[in-house]
Amino acid sequence: SSDTLADIGMVGLAVMGENLVLNMEGKGFTVACFNRTVAKVDAFIEGRGANKNIIGCHSLEELVGTLSRPRKVMCMIKAGEAVDALMASLMPLLEPGDIIIDGGNSHYLDTSRRVREARAHQILFVGTGISGGEEGALIGPSIMPGGAIEAWDSIRPIFQSICAVTPDGAPCCEWVGPDGAGHFVKMVHNGIEYADMQLICEVYQMMKEGLKLSNEEMHGIFSRWNKGRLDSYLIEITSEILGFRDEDGSYVLDLILDSAQQKGTGKWTVNAALEAGQPLTLIGEAVFARSLSALKDERVLASRVLEGPVQPAGEAGGMVDDLQEALYASKIVSYAQGFQILSAVSHEEGWDLDHGGIARMWRNGCIIRSVFLGDIEKAFIRDPKLASLLLDQFFKDAVHHAQAGWRRVVAAGALRGIPMPTLSAGLAYFDGYRSARLPANLLQAQRDYFGAHTYERIDRPRGRHFHTNWTGHG
Ligand code: NAP
Repeated sequence: SSDTLADIGMVGLAVMGENLVLNMEGKGFTVACFNRTVAKVDAFIEGRGANKNIIGCHSLEELVGTLSRPRKVMCMIKAGEAVDALMASLMPLLEPGDIIIDGGNSHYLDTSRRVREARAHQILFVGTGISGGEEGALIGPSIMPGGAIEAWDSIRPIFQSICAVTPDGAPCCEWVGPDGAGHFVKMVHNGIEYADMQLICEVYQMMKEGLKLSNEEMHGIFSRWNKGRLDSYLIEITSEILGFRDEDGSYVLDLILDSAQQKGTGKWTVNAALEAGQPLTLIGEAVFARSLSALKDERVLASRVLEGPVQPAGEAGGMVDDLQEALYASKIVSYAQGFQILSAVSHEEGWDLDHGGIARMWRNGCIIRSVFLGDIEKAFIRDPKLASLLLDQFFKDAVHHAQAGWRRVVAAGALRGIPMPTLSAGLAYFDGYRSARLPANLLQAQRDYFGAHTYERIDRPRGRHFHTNWTGHG
């Protein structure tokens, strides 16, 4: 009824907003809602939101007036300027201590700025990553909130009741950190998602073109993999996609144009890594692989001009098992890199991110959910200061066990002319990371030769800089 106060308000009734409202209502909360195009409010209240504790509002004023204090207004709208515009309209309607929550895919630096701007008006701003797509929003997403921590006590009961839970029953939602930490962690999640997806795509291409496996065979292999250590949402949907046929019996997958799109969170992650000087090579290659795929017309032309190797005879025998090893080992490297960018930025920003807690938030609800993330959480519980996942006993053993097959796969890709940008980048990183000595001595010599950039010496204390007159000239 109209005199009940709502526990939370939702602005933005596109698919994510609607589903989050229904999820919250289903957990016993009264939710008020508003959408810029007001007709959508009525459509929702008369449709999916009918006969529920959902209050439709036709203005922001009405929405704010319907909320219990401290007021909590959550926005699920298009990221970017729309969020700033909405904030500007909302702030004058709110009182000190009220809370604005942005659940969209905002850039973390925008969120850091908004936390500061809101604070100047004594409004508590929370930027939260939400992953799990439409279905997750409805039945339990992974939620990664950060910003004004004073808001956490008020929003925790709502978020921790609507979020996914781990197999141990822990909520996939914890306070991440100050500023834009929540959106930063969501951004890295999306970057890791790019790499996970691209790794699977490379394995698919080798199975299809190298081993000439049928969709039905691949469907079977991915379903089998999904019962073991690769058990994850993305392997599961890959298996389903491979087996999916249209009414006329044709595989939908085979009819889809091979030109990928992207919304930008992968690029943001790589930009952050470049800024932080961190080698985030699998995510970088995954973003570039999408870019290359999008050059469809150019590739079609090039395919008529540029020749690959004469194909060695395809032998499916041990290669399928090798592909599983290659996928697993590359995934370990990708997550090792992902957690290192989390560390680097956390250190720079003074956020003190909890890696084990982040692995737990990603364990369920979100797109990268997997059994593997449970193993990662355990690694960070064993050693919260673990420098790299590769140095954890469990993952070290796993990579050692997988590497022979992994190397055969990357070699086979090179020999057959099947591109493996992420599988091979993972291996190159592994070999680089485990090298006490890299050829950067020559690189430093080159820099000193042409630019007098100086170098340090291995036979002298670190921090002393030397220059050689390489040419004997002046
Ligand atoms: P969306 O298509 O990104 O955005 C549509 C919503 O934004 C509509 O409610 C629209 O209102 C509103 N909007 C756009 N510009 C506005 C403005 N200037 N002022 C006020 N409202 C404005 O919707 P979505 O897919 O539900 O996603 C919402 C947010 O969640 C986005 O940031 C998205 O990136 C993020 N997200 C999406 C997913 C997903 O799986 N879709 C998953 C996680 C996170 P009108 O109806 O008036 O146009």
